[in-house]
Amino acid sequence: MATTEAILVDITKCIGCRSCEQACKQIHGFPMDTEAKLSPTALTVIEERGDRFTRRMCMHCQDPACASACLVGALKKTSAGPVTYDGAKCIGCRYCLVACPFSVPRYEWTKLAPYVKKCDMCAGRLANGQQPACVEACPVQASIAGNREDILQEAQRRIVNNSKYVNHIYGSDEAGGTSIFFISDVPFEKLGFAAAPKQPLPMLTASALGEGPTVILLGGAVLGGLNWITRRRAEVALAEARENSTQERG
Ligand code: SF4
Ligand code: SF4
Repeated sequence: MATTEAILVDITKCIGCRSCEQACKQIHGFPMDTEAKLSPTALTVIEERGDRFTRRMCMHCQDPACASACLVGALKKTSAGPVTYDGAKCIGCRYCLVACPFSVPRYEWTKLAPYVKKCDMCAGRLANGQQPACVEACPVQASIAGNREDILQEAQRRIVNNSKYVNHIYGSDEAGGTSIFFISDVPFEKLGFAAAPKQPLPMLTASALGEGPTVILLGGAVLGGLNWITRRRAEVALAEARENSTQERG
């Protein structure tokens, strides 16, 4: 049976060094500057809350609302745990941005050929038996990765063995459960964590979609068409630039 991976972030151990942020930027080839919020070039960020540091990234929901809202199957939950994104399928409707209960996906608004951007839990590295880059980079093991059941048990063990922890594993039941877990000695609501519903969100998305399928499908088609035109223009501009440069050299 496929191993489903998960990440545990222990907020009591995080020293705010941002090594996870930097490792993520490095493997994606993003500019290495520090960003305060998630962006198309910051797929995980460290946020300061008083004297605690928390990480934000895709939660890799067990039953992801983003995938449920996507009309073309560009987002999917893999059996290995990550929720992945296929830009070749994406029509740019951005329903995933609206559906996500954790407000995670970002959109490349300023690009001619824009894509949705979010953490994919280093799905390629996991497939090669490596750890996610953010986990590997953490100097104090504030983030650890492993089999989802083992990771949940480890989180529970820490809470039971040390009364400093709040008696809740964030992600164990939020949005129906996720593949990213947090434990903390400060209540999660004081750290700015979203109070996500406990049931899987796709149920809500499905009923919302059911209320106006014609409008939504029409809107999706129009947005998809606009996105296709935008991309096509960018491709044509690129092809023209290449041709001009070849002619100049020749
Ligand atoms: S956190 Fe948002 S983007 Fe990530 S899997 Fe869940 S619904 Fe999708
Ligand atoms: S923008 Fe639309 S098509 Fe692209 S991933 Fe999001 S929901 Fe799917």
